[in-house]
Amino acid sequence: MPALGELEAAYVEAMGDAAFVAEYERLLRTYVGRPTALTHARRMSEHLGGAQIYLKREDLAHSGAHKINNALGQALLAKLMGKRRVVAETGAGQHGVASATVAALLGLECVVYMGTVDMARQQPNVFRMKLLGAEVRPVDAGTRTLKDAINEAIRDWVTNINTTHYLLGSALGPHPYPTMVRDFQSIIGREARAQILEMTGRLPDQCIACVGGGSNSIGLFHAFRDDADVELIGVEAGGEGIASGKHAARFGDPAVGRLGVLHGTKTFVLQDPDGQIAETHSISAGLDYAAIGPEHAYLRDLGRAQYTYATDDEALNAFSTLCKLEGIIPALESSHAVAEAIKRAPQMKKDAILLVNLSGRGDKDLDTVMKAIRDE
Ligand SMILES: *Cc1c(COP(=O)(O)O)cnc(C)c1O
Repeated sequence: MPALGELEAAYVEAMGDAAFVAEYERLLRTYVGRPTALTHARRMSEHLGGAQIYLKREDLAHSGAHKINNALGQALLAKLMGKRRVVAETGAGQHGVASATVAALLGLECVVYMGTVDMARQQPNVFRMKLLGAEVRPVDAGTRTLKDAINEAIRDWVTNINTTHYLLGSALGPHPYPTMVRDFQSIIGREARAQILEMTGRLPDQCIACVGGGSNSIGLFHAFRDDADVELIGVEAGGEGIASGKHAARFGDPAVGRLGVLHGTKTFVLQDPDGQIAETHSISAGLDYAAIGPEHAYLRDLGRAQYTYATDDEALNAFSTLCKLEGIIPALESSHAVAEAIKRAPQMKKDAILLVNLSGRGDKDLDTVMKAIRDE
């Protein structure tokens, strides 16, 4: 608790510090490459015969996804707090790579905890992190995946609190993390809102984003929260279908998705009747986590946002559609959001607008997609 109290105080102070905010914005511009583009997906919209689809291009951000927006903000905060070391957790390796990237940029020591199962299936990202100067520490406990890596990162943080900041990768964990990560990701929605107004003269009818822990989606939704006419739609991982039990749809499967506490967050958690954390599955590693960011549970209770899911097959189909019709290779996570747009667009008028967050690029997923196509 003292560590969280210290972090919250430092964060509140930093956000009121003009020099801190200016440095963050300067690096977003000159290092991350913001603002990222908003692209009218003309051919895909025509092909679907309904709403106009616009893509917010987080795939064009440095290191290939939105994760750097948050990693950069937290690394700057760590420096401001006088910490010279950051620890991070990673599942697929994307947040580990973003953390290693900003640590190299700012001269911080970086240790990334990663389950040994994940290390075996994400070798290129393990190598990337090492190239960037980070130490990757294997975690051999539990299911040897993301949730076990988070346990170890938290242990390291509380043991080395004087020198170390825990750079958490999604809108999850104990307060102030969900708020802080949302704020650092809210640049996505602020830019997209201004860009769509400039390009079309009006707000979108619906905003769609995939939801793992919930950071890219909350980052998009936040700027539209007061625009009552803009529908907000989050897409979870439906895996092999809800009935199969192999999915990560915390809201999509009331039989196992119930209120619980995991890693300091009270929210919807996939669990068995005893409260043991359920195993999850998704073709996209970034959506494969048992809990959802608490602000999403709140938006859902309010009725402000709706949540649905896309299956592995629907995501793969969306992946190849976007490749062929727009010349964009999306991340498999982002493909879940595209899959929802593919379902909705044909039922909408031609002047309706769907804004889809393309959270990352798909280069990291080529092996997975190749294997899926081969199996088919
Ligand atoms: C990590 C990741 C996600 C899922 O994380 P959120 O916190 O829900 O955004 C989605 N897309 C990409 C490309 C990712 O790397």
